[in-house]
Amino acid sequence: MSETLALSRIPLDQYAELLGASEIEELRALAKPLRGRSIEMINSTAVGGGVAEILNRLVPLAEELEINIKWDVMKGGEDFFEVTKSFHNALHGAPYHASPKDFEIFLAYSERNRATLPLDAEFVVIHDPQPTGLIETRPPGANHWVWRCHIDLSHPNRTVWDFLEKFVSRYDCALFSSPEFSRQLPIPQYLFYPAIDPLSEKNCDLDPQFVSQVLGRYQIDPQRTILTQISRFDRLKDPVGVIRAYRIVKRYFDCQLVLAGGSASDDPEGAMVLKEVLREADCDPDIKVLELPAWAPLEVNALQRAATVVIQKSLREGFGLTVSEALWKKKPVVASAVGGIPVQIIHKHTGLLAHSVEGTAYQIRFLLSRPEIATKLGEQGHQHVKENFLITQKLRRYLTLFLTLARGS
Ligand code: UDP
Repeated sequence: MSETLALSRIPLDQYAELLGASEIEELRALAKPLRGRSIEMINSTAVGGGVAEILNRLVPLAEELEINIKWDVMKGGEDFFEVTKSFHNALHGAPYHASPKDFEIFLAYSERNRATLPLDAEFVVIHDPQPTGLIETRPPGANHWVWRCHIDLSHPNRTVWDFLEKFVSRYDCALFSSPEFSRQLPIPQYLFYPAIDPLSEKNCDLDPQFVSQVLGRYQIDPQRTILTQISRFDRLKDPVGVIRAYRIVKRYFDCQLVLAGGSASDDPEGAMVLKEVLREADCDPDIKVLELPAWAPLEVNALQRAATVVIQKSLREGFGLTVSEALWKKKPVVASAVGGIPVQIIHKHTGLLAHSVEGTAYQIRFLLSRPEIATKLGEQGHQHVKENFLITQKLRRYLTLFLTLARGS
């Protein structure tokens, strides 16, 4: 990887203990014909956000299966990431007037990265819009190119999508996190759910003493109710809306709010949004706005485990890995019915969905007044994640895809 991050390795056999030996045997069998063959994963940040989180777990697992896989991070300057963040918001439906200069910046960085990235693996998997243009000089039929889109494209800004579509159409296939995100394209499209690693530092069991230490570090009282949202400080995660919902809940229940987030190197808006959040929090001592380092999986794990209720009040969402992370920890979750969240939160079965500040507050109050229902939702949520959103299942889908592409050629 160009930005250095030591990927932690967990032997596949440990997953067998959790998920059953047959699941792992199937992975080994599928991987056999792919041994020694090359895969290059490319995204735009090494830490921060769901894509980096997934690659961080997927790559070492594929390596253990003796696949020659590498993860490269596209390089960009501030100007590039400002443009791509605007593209990101616009693809999620936000108003945006793209200027010709924006497209020039995008193309210039695509060209620069094409000169430095190898792009010669048998399977090249490009994650999200930022590196989409790397395909431009693809030699015909040389290798397989897959576009993995993690964002909600159901109502994209036309200008931005028309620009990107020209690149996307040149890939061999596109992968989306939900059927609603797919577009009319001349290439095959597949449904790929994101996934969490149950054994990673982010999700593994923790010593309760460590959880207490983390709470102590941030002056969070373990004896009182804790409402928690973990997300980058991004307007689409609506941290200000979370504070407003908390204020409504607070009229009825004594509670604290934890809003914890790090940053991602491809997201230039974080500092500005953090300021808006602090303004809205207005020095309320029960609102803990925590700026975490970009890579702090154990802290995130501890904060999720310590929560009474986990909130994910996004206005738009790709998938929302934080939801699966909380469900895995058997937490009752109140989340917005946007993007990939309804796939994870089956209303009243694995959590509660909401559509507004008031709705979010209402559902949190309901859970706080009915702890037995909260517990049941958390348990059912855990099972749902175990059946559908674990990294081993995702790896199996990738292996199957690569085999299919290879056979096709
Ligand atoms: N995350 C983190 N630290 C933070 C904020 C988020 O480690 O301060 C992680 C979070 O636990 C999850 C990922 O980043 O694994 C966020 O993925 P999600 O799909 O929820 O949102 P995205 O940031 O990709 O829009």
